[in-house]
Amino acid sequence: MSQTVTLIPGDGVGPEIAAVVRTCMTALGADIEWDIQDAGAAMIEKENTPLPDRVLDSIRKNRIALKGPVETPVGKGFRSVNVRLRQDLDLFACVRPCKYYEGIHSRITAPEAIDLVIVRENTEDLYAGIEFMNTCGEEAPFLKFLKEQQGIVLGCDTGISIKPISISGSERIVTFAFEYAKKNGRKKVTAIDKANIMKFSDGLFMQAAEDISHKYPEFAYEHKLVDNMCMQLVQYPEKYDVLVLPNLYGDIISDLAAGIIGGLGVAPGANMGDDVAVFEATHGSAPDIAGQNKVNPTGILLSTVLMLRYMELTGAADRLEQSIAAVIKEGRHVTADLKPAGSPEPPVGTREMGNAIVEKINAL
Ligand code: NAD
Repeated sequence: MSQTVTLIPGDGVGPEIAAVVRTCMTALGADIEWDIQDAGAAMIEKENTPLPDRVLDSIRKNRIALKGPVETPVGKGFRSVNVRLRQDLDLFACVRPCKYYEGIHSRITAPEAIDLVIVRENTEDLYAGIEFMNTCGEEAPFLKFLKEQQGIVLGCDTGISIKPISISGSERIVTFAFEYAKKNGRKKVTAIDKANIMKFSDGLFMQAAEDISHKYPEFAYEHKLVDNMCMQLVQYPEKYDVLVLPNLYGDIISDLAAGIIGGLGVAPGANMGDDVAVFEATHGSAPDIAGQNKVNPTGILLSTVLMLRYMELTGAADRLEQSIAAVIKEGRHVTADLKPAGSPEPPVGTREMGNAIVEKINAL
């Protein structure tokens, strides 16, 4: 029986990369129906919201979505679509695999061995949005509380962001990381934080990770401090497998890891909850190249591979991934960002790269 997936093409280059996904999925013969839903900047003019309720209803019904990038309107009073999706659907885990594909330029000396998955907590930490303006007197009850109850005096020029990390939130994300490791044949989980300095927040995450690790004795488990981890990922990325982190460190380490495998243009991602998952490329709407047939479709296609694996359509996932890898390795039919400087052949467009991938799918 065919499965229905919500497809949100999104803004900017979104419709171009969504079209490539649809062409590849037709070639794969995957038994998937698309429920196409518009969200993003264009919807503000039409419906006065970037995320109409019917888009959320569609995802709730189908449980799986593939999403193109959407613009975050600056200073227009609308909540970010991405933040709303995460909050309203309780997508508490951000999953970013970082695997090197031969043919992509990396600054790392032996990138072939890089095959990491970053699991980032998506709801807590300094991104919870609990912030205080730098005002004084009666208007700053928090500064007053700190002074009166804790003896800590902060000047009126101090801004404050609060970092909430809970045992339940930490246990949930670490359990997710081990379960992901189990389903995806991974061997090791590394929990990362700065527990030596922030004992009450990161210390609690570290303890929760340690406790949960005892339930999964079949996996190697280790703990690392985030500053050391940054250096480790640049020097020895091949030593790492699944990484689990609180929100802020996860955000930063995800981009660092994307950088060592060739950049955001080739990095896939997903936001997941207990039984809803939204897959998306990690790059933005790239307005500077929108509508020009220049965008690299690899990020969204690799996100589609993740989606197919999640749907247990393993054969289709393998064929798609092998076809993308083959086109990148040959290096002939790839977009400009994947062409090395001084390459004798010109780059191809988004559609043409998609067609080259379809040829490989048909040949497999
Ligand atoms: P961006 O990722 O859109 O673009 C940064 C640069 O990288 C641009 O020069 C762009 O042309 C290039 N680029 C990005 N993806 C590429 C690809 N696949 N192929 C070739 N080149 C690519 O980042 P930005 O300019 O900071 O953001 C633009 C808009 O996208 C903003 O409104 C932002 O809020 C939004 N955004 C959305 C998401 C999302 O929906 N997940 C993520 C990031 C940014």
